[in-house]
Amino acid sequence: MNCIFCKIAKGEIPSVKVFENDNFVAFNDINPKAKIHILVVPKKHIESVKHLQDIDKDLVAELIFVAQKIAKEKELQGYKLVINVGREGGQTVDHLHLHLLSGDANIKAI
Ligand code: AMP
Repeated sequence: MNCIFCKIAKGEIPSVKVFENDNFVAFNDINPKAKIHILVVPKKHIESVKHLQDIDKDLVAELIFVAQKIAKEKELQGYKLVINVGREGGQTVDHLHLHLLSGDANIKAI
């Protein structure tokens, strides 16, 4: 499968990883939109929120908790969690991911 985030998860494409467990990898966004811009990515290839199934409920819950853990570790006082869905929702990489953004005045824009 030609998926950039699957390749990052497998270590086939370099990234600055900030977290990894059995189900997730998190790494710095290559084109950060804030001082802190981390992508939390399930290792399971799911194209987007549109493609989630009942079986993914635990994974989706864990996605939020992984973001919370990273934020705690980085002692972030506040942050924004964003999931873009589909081209019209701003999604450019077709592998589910959560943006964790913090540390920038522009964070209030949305
Ligand atoms: P989205 O627009 O929600 O699909 O977000 C995709 C994000 O992936 C963008 O913020 C990109 O900057 C980021 N991105 C694309 N390629 C890479 C890469 N090789 N390493 C890290 N981040 C990437």
